[in-house]
Amino acid sequence: MVPNDSYRAADFIAAAEALGVDISIASEERPPLRPDDRFVRIDCADPEASARAVADLAATTPVDAIVAADDAGVEIAARASALIGLPANPPAAAASTLDKIAMRRALAAAEVPQPRFEVVTSDDDAARVMSVFEGPVVVKPADMSASRGVLRVDRTENAGPVVERVRSIVAAAGRDRDRPLLMERYVDGPEIAVEGIVWDGDVEVLAIFDKPVPLTGPAFEETIFVTPSRLDQGVLAEVHRVTRAANSALGLTQGPIHAELRIEDGVPVVIEVAARTIGGLCGRSLRFGLLGAPLETMVLRHALGMRKRSLHRQTNASGVAMIPIPDSGILRSVDIPDDVRALAGVTSIEITARAGTPVAPPPDGDRYLGFIFAVADDPDTVESTLRAALDRITVFVD
Ligand code: ADP
Repeated sequence: MVPNDSYRAADFIAAAEALGVDISIASEERPPLRPDDRFVRIDCADPEASARAVADLAATTPVDAIVAADDAGVEIAARASALIGLPANPPAAAASTLDKIAMRRALAAAEVPQPRFEVVTSDDDAARVMSVFEGPVVVKPADMSASRGVLRVDRTENAGPVVERVRSIVAAAGRDRDRPLLMERYVDGPEIAVEGIVWDGDVEVLAIFDKPVPLTGPAFEETIFVTPSRLDQGVLAEVHRVTRAANSALGLTQGPIHAELRIEDGVPVVIEVAARTIGGLCGRSLRFGLLGAPLETMVLRHALGMRKRSLHRQTNASGVAMIPIPDSGILRSVDIPDDVRALAGVTSIEITARAGTPVAPPPDGDRYLGFIFAVADDPDTVESTLRAALDRITVFVD
C-alpha cells in the first residue's frame, strides 16, 4: 500500500527486490511500472472498497502479506488482510491509530500514561474547555500527521483563536473544518521516538531516537533524531514498558509501530502511536544485521513470517536531520556547500521538495524539504555533525 505521496515506496520496492519477493502495488494512481507489474487502484478515503479491491486481486494472484508504507494504507491493509485471512492487525486497532481521539480513549481505558485530554467540538467554547487544564495545552486535529495543525496554547484567551487557526488548516487540507479537535495538556520534557515491530502482540524495539532539539511550540517542526538514546537505562526500561502497554491498549498485533513519547520528570508519557514505520525518509538512518538491511526489509521479513531473528541495528550511532522550512512560499533553491556533503560522518543528503513547488513549515505543511543522514561512534558526535550540516545549508523560499 503506497499512497501516491508516499516517501517510502521506493525503499519498500527495493527491499522486496532484495528479498526476492514478488510484489503488487496498491496506490491511488498507477505509478510508472513495468508492464507485467501488478497494480491495484485504491482510494485511501474509502478503506472498505479499497480492501475489497485488494481481496479481489488475491482471488487470482496468491497474496502472502499486505504491508502499508504509510498511515493512509494502514486501515486498508488490515481490512484486506481480514478478508483474505492473513495474520494482521485487527481493522479496529489499525483504525484507532489514525484517529487521535479514539487512540486517547483506548489508552485512557488501559490507564497508559498520557496527557489529560478533552475533545473540542465546533459548539464548544475553546477557552472554557482550556480552563479545566492547569497550564499550557496543545490543540490538534484528530487525523493529520507530521505535526500539521498541531499548536501549543499558553493563555486561555488565545484558545479560541488557535482553535480557529487549526480549523482553517483542517479546511485547507480539504477536510470538514467543524470536525472535533483534540485538546491535551502540554507535556513538558524531552521527546523520543520508538521504532518497533510487533510479533503476535509482542513489541520488539528496534531503535529509540532522542530528539535533541527541544520541541516547545507553538508549532512543532521536527529536526534532529539520534539513536541510540542517551537517556539512562532505567528510563529506557520504562519507555519499553509504556510502549508495550500502549501497543496492547490499542490492540495492535502485527507489524511496524512508531511511537512518540515525552519524558516528564523521568516518566514516559505517550504522545502517539502509529502502525507504520517512522515518517519521511527518516527510516534510512537505520540499518540492521551484518549486511546493513534497511528498516523496510525488517518489516517485510515480519510480514512474510520469516523466522523471528534479532538483526541488530548497525553502527554505534546514527541520526537524521529534517531540514527546516524557513517560511511558507515557493521553494527557490537549497544551497548545500560541497564541504557539507564531505563532513566526516555525513552519509547522504536527500532533498525531497522540488524547486518551484510550494513548501510550508508546520503547522500548515506536512511535507518534508529534505534529510541529512549521519553516523559516528557515539550519539553526541552524530548530533554535532547534523547540527554543523544544518548550520551551513541555506534554503531560499520566495
Ligand atoms: P502528528 O501525528 O501530526 O505528528 P502529534 O500528536 O504526534 O501529531 O504531535 C506532533 C508533535 O507535537 C509531537 O511530536 C510533539 O512534539 C508535539 N505534541 C503533541 N502533543 C503534545 C502534548 N500533549 N504535549 C507536548 N507536546 C505535544
